[in-house]
Amino acid sequence: MISSSDELTTYGLAIGGEQRPATGGATYEALNPFTGQAWARAPEAGREDVDRAVGAARGALDGPWGAMTGADRAACMRRLAIVLAEEAEHLAAVETRGNGKLLRETLGQAKALADYYNYFAGMADKLEGASIPSHKPGYFLYTRREPVGVVGAIMAWNSPLMLLTWKLAPALAAGCTVVAKPSPYTPISTLEFARCVERAGFPPGVFNVVTGVAPELGQWLVSHPGVDKVTFTGSTQTGIAVGKAAMDNMTRVALELGGKSAQLVFPDADLDAAATGIVAGVFAATGQTCVAGSRLLVHRDVHDEVVDRLVTMATAIKLGDPMAPDSEMGPLANAAQLEKVSGLMDRARAEGATVAHGACVSASLGGLFYEPTILTDVGPDMEIAREEVFGPVLSVLAFDTEDDAVALANRSEFGLAAGVWTESVRRAHRVAHRLQAGSVWVNTYRMVAPNAPFGGFKMSGIGRENGHEAVYEFTETKTVWVALDDAQARDPFALG
Ligand code: NDP
Repeated sequence: MISSSDELTTYGLAIGGEQRPATGGATYEALNPFTGQAWARAPEAGREDVDRAVGAARGALDGPWGAMTGADRAACMRRLAIVLAEEAEHLAAVETRGNGKLLRETLGQAKALADYYNYFAGMADKLEGASIPSHKPGYFLYTRREPVGVVGAIMAWNSPLMLLTWKLAPALAAGCTVVAKPSPYTPISTLEFARCVERAGFPPGVFNVVTGVAPELGQWLVSHPGVDKVTFTGSTQTGIAVGKAAMDNMTRVALELGGKSAQLVFPDADLDAAATGIVAGVFAATGQTCVAGSRLLVHRDVHDEVVDRLVTMATAIKLGDPMAPDSEMGPLANAAQLEKVSGLMDRARAEGATVAHGACVSASLGGLFYEPTILTDVGPDMEIAREEVFGPVLSVLAFDTEDDAVALANRSEFGLAAGVWTESVRRAHRVAHRLQAGSVWVNTYRMVAPNAPFGGFKMSGIGRENGHEAVYEFTETKTVWVALDDAQARDPFALG
């Protein structure tokens, strides 16, 4: 932060290891979705600030960070893990003020951040190339994994620090430097995170943050000629625009996008466990998660029983202050999101969906609170069965056979995640293999870990975060041929 008054704390941009005002000096108010009040002021970055941030990242890459060994980078990352563990409660509270998610959710995420830096620190000194036996005699042939360079990281508002970490930890392990742009709705947690990076003793410029409400800010970063790779989490529509813009400079791109994930409940499932998993999948985080299990595909024999259980559970969900330990659902994160959910609901009713529960702004709390909603009589071609809601809305569709269930699940342009509920081990694996989704959870839902690759099939994205693959997303493979003989007799006009 660069100044604090009795009213609002004003933050600076994090560039080159310093906190500094935006070039034009402008700031904007960050709103708390629960209170509706401004709670901090964030800097409004201009194009010059993006240039500075990219320049600082390039300087660190060409300078002290680029000169470090993997073991040195790992040491920095482990120090960051220690700082993050110490700061977890503070970061969680900042996150909840910014996006209205329950403190119990943001605290769980903040406490897990250290695990990601420790896991990827373990890879920083293991980025091995290969020694390849040459097909032609007299050559030594090998590969090197080199950092892709300066990374532009753009995030959505729903889990800013977790989404950032899924990019930053493997990027640092690979030897890259980063300019991060959080969503304009949630700028503060990423600026607070930059202070943790400073405390951990990284060379200046390794991690930089630009914030602002200008719609061009993300575009400036994506199109910047000094950015070598863009890694983006957000909606599919924006992801397509980002991918197209990146291609103008042949900037590498990874996209983590939206979803319309299906939960499949077979008649042999443990229905208590399934009901709990379905509630966790779609009502946790007020449905504002990319893996929300927003399509329930349930066998006709158990359809009514499952819906009854879900309505009972939804009725009991306690909406309230996201800071309160007994709250189970907080508000939606912003007014635009509430408007989007309400509009989708109006059109779902018009298309013939039946409201089994909810489908309205919470009568007692008002504001941005939306009731957990269950819709039945949903057809697979209705908008509500196809479009991502990013809110607490479950659409229920019935199926008769396993083939029907798989076909319905795969009848989506998205392919981020899916859940399978069955007591049959054969069916579990058979169906998991047939589903077009980047993550499939069997008799559980919404599990993530540093070592578990995560990403989307189809319109849900390109590339993987987490696991070994995530580091390779931030490297370029270089192939080196070395002639071992002094006098190589070769035809200069023919390919070697
Ligand atoms: P948006 O796509 O609207 O925005 C995401 C980020 O992109 C924001 O920082 C936004 O900032 C920026 N942005 C917008 N337009 C551009 C552009 N043309 N060039 C560069 N950057 C741009 O998504 P939301 O923030 O509304 O987040 C919700 C979406 O995120 C959902 O679809 C959800 O599924 C997805 N998501 C995916 C996850 C995954 O891992 N697959 C995880 C979490 C969320 P600004 O608006 O200021 O430009």
